[in-house]
Amino acid sequence: MSERVYLDYQSAKPVDPRVVEAMLPFFTTRFGNASALHTVGDDATSTLDESRARVARLFGAEPDEIVFTSGATESNNLALMGYCLRNKRKGDHVLISEAEHISILNCAKALEKSGFRVTRVPIDQFGRVSPDKIRARITDDTILVSIGWASNEIGTVQPMHEIAEMLTGTGVALHTDAVAAQGLLPIDMAAIPIDLMTLSSNDIYGPRGLGVLYLRKGVRVAPTIIGGGQENGLRSGTEDIASIAGMATAADIMAAEMAQEAVRLATYRDRLIEEILARVPHAHLNGHPQHRLPNNAHFRFEGIEGESLLLSLKDEGISVSTGSACSSKTLAPSHTLISCGLLHEEAHGSLELTVGRFSKESDVDRIIEVLPGVVRRLRTLSPLYKE
Ligand code: PMP
Repeated sequence: MSERVYLDYQSAKPVDPRVVEAMLPFFTTRFGNASALHTVGDDATSTLDESRARVARLFGAEPDEIVFTSGATESNNLALMGYCLRNKRKGDHVLISEAEHISILNCAKALEKSGFRVTRVPIDQFGRVSPDKIRARITDDTILVSIGWASNEIGTVQPMHEIAEMLTGTGVALHTDAVAAQGLLPIDMAAIPIDLMTLSSNDIYGPRGLGVLYLRKGVRVAPTIIGGGQENGLRSGTEDIASIAGMATAADIMAAEMAQEAVRLATYRDRLIEEILARVPHAHLNGHPQHRLPNNAHFRFEGIEGESLLLSLKDEGISVSTGSACSSKTLAPSHTLISCGLLHEEAHGSLELTVGRFSKESDVDRIIEVLPGVVRRLRTLSPLYKE
């Protein structure tokens, strides 16, 4: 059996061993509660303050603009539900794109049940949202626009700077779910007028179960979790100091290594795209050819099902995805691909390959070597495929 190959960094990343090392003391000797007033508690408070500053630094933010949550899903809930609840006297209309993560789509549905109106802005065939299409849908009642910085699925990067500039001065708040973009693209809140931003620790190789909502100074949200008033009253519950210290270390490492890492990953991505399109007939790239994440290659193969492809590659020791792991429990085709204009049968033949910090050139070699034969074999079995 050859070495296992992992090409699904979008669904989960290993925690960097340097992060694990930094977290360990907080499980045993430095276990204090930041709300306790004794010395052990003081140690936790100073770790919390210092970690907040280190996480803020990676994103060009101020420490008091960082709210720690239990993950990106909770941050998205706090952003959408929290902002709308707190600001409903200003209006009842929200804009999202058709390509959002399922946690945003389902928050939008919940908002509609609570009496808000939601408009879903269409995307183009590459998965991009145009600022003009957003502008055309803004009304006097619009209070919030939420657009994911990049697609966790097809890797398309949105024109966030243009969208943010277009909304400046309109009084409409801008939220972005930056989970797929963080650690891969530079994000500097001092240089882009975004009001709320969702981040996750694992996506910069920190521990799972920790996220951040960036809240620009002056932006108000109602808490979605009520309790002892931690995180400035916005997210109650005893802070997970070990994970928070882990995310801070992950942020420092990312700040030092991201520029180089993104270049290396882009060379892997470009090889995957070039060689797979060249070696597999009737293969197509999903997502944008240029405006795409440096670690994402997403394909569509005519005449086969993504699931059978995934299982055949699993037999070869290669872990891949057919799209968002968060939506894999539904049998429906990807909403993002359907919104790009693909037919259901086309969307079903998709394969998502994502590389990351511990990917090696040999991982890329292996999938390039194995994939053409697997596709050929599945096509001979497929009633859908005609040469
Ligand atoms: N937003 C995006 C873009 C994601 O990819 C994910 C999942 N990785 C989430 C939100 C939700 O993250 P979590 O499951 O950690 O809450």
